[in-house]
Amino acid sequence: MPSIADRLKNVSIPASAAMTQRARELAAKGIKVVSLSSGEPDFPTPAHAIEAAHAAGLGGDTKYPPIDGTSELKAAIARKFKRDNNLVYDASQIVASAGGKQTIFNAMLATLNPGDEVVIPTPSWVSYADIVHFAGGTPVAVPCFEQTGFKLRPEDLDAAITPRTKWLILNFPNNPTGAACSRAEMAAIAQVMLRHPNVWILTDDIYEHLVYDDFEFCTIAEAEPRLYDRVLTMNGVSKAYAMTGWRLGFCASGSKELIAAISKVNSQNAGGITTVTQAAAIAALDGPQDLLKERAAIYRERRDFVVGRLSEIEGLRCHKPEGAFYLYPNMSGLIGKTTKGGRKIETDVDFVMGLIEEHHVATVQGAAYGMSPYFRISYATSMEMLNEGCARIAEFCKSMH
Ligand code: PMP
Repeated sequence: MPSIADRLKNVSIPASAAMTQRARELAAKGIKVVSLSSGEPDFPTPAHAIEAAHAAGLGGDTKYPPIDGTSELKAAIARKFKRDNNLVYDASQIVASAGGKQTIFNAMLATLNPGDEVVIPTPSWVSYADIVHFAGGTPVAVPCFEQTGFKLRPEDLDAAITPRTKWLILNFPNNPTGAACSRAEMAAIAQVMLRHPNVWILTDDIYEHLVYDDFEFCTIAEAEPRLYDRVLTMNGVSKAYAMTGWRLGFCASGSKELIAAISKVNSQNAGGITTVTQAAAIAALDGPQDLLKERAAIYRERRDFVVGRLSEIEGLRCHKPEGAFYLYPNMSGLIGKTTKGGRKIETDVDFVMGLIEEHHVATVQGAAYGMSPYFRISYATSMEMLNEGCARIAEFCKSMH
């Protein structure tokens, strides 16, 4: 038989997708599952974005698009960066792709040579390491510990950088911990990066608008303008505007060379972004922004509710983060116990498997994000579901012996 490529050997299907799939299988059998595993807003896409897509389609905007985004889309992205981040980019410094994920993928494919290292503060989104492997690079994890709020300590970052380091990937607010960086914390990270002039910085700001309690988001190129040429500021419409299914992400950099290289990769994979998606994204980026604050207030309420409930459960410890829609509780207090169904809990994988199979609550093991023993809860779901999910988690933990 012909064989599959070696480059897939270090690449896996995201653990969150695998767990969401298991939840769907159980639900198909008629079981009432509480799904807290999926990282997507439960809100609808704003109607004005859907209407813009509809009008674009009917108006004949259905032909091959430009490979790096239409000039109207790039203009809307430039306005977004100016409005939200005080960053100025022109059209030649911006490229859009089919999702934040593809933006990162194409950036890595455009820049990594075999042996190049990519520093990833960890816990981290499951896909970074896989994408780096895919592109032939080597991921280097820098631990961000619970004791320091899952934040990146400048001294740890400094120690992780070697002559082979090509990129640092920042993602604050973070998936899976929810940790965010204040302007002062970002400035301290920037200070380290000023000392390493041969390293690019990718900042994945996809959770920018999901920060709570008056926390102010700050991205690294804004915190330190001297890094402008080395920073690739990435964002998208998935999380902010509840547009996960539309598939549009974008990035901008002071380096036109980097942007041109990413466009070149775009030209040979997706070949552009769905035209009606671009119309919808322009409407979302340029339209009323009040929904961002309204939805953030709802997420904050959910975060506080779940943190409160989990804190009452013996064996769990839950840090309260600044942003995103995730919690990353520590379950070390349950290690060594046995579930009602006879499962011995030795790892966070055992814990999340017991929880889904015995109590039908889908979460994701910390091991998938590079730090154990934890599990990730997404609170991007209704209060009713969160209430039921917390009750089942409490029952599961309590019933262990
Ligand atoms: N970055 C992070 C940190 C994410 O959590 C996700 C989605 N789970 C993405 C990027 C990908 O977003 P998109 O839907 O735009 O591909």
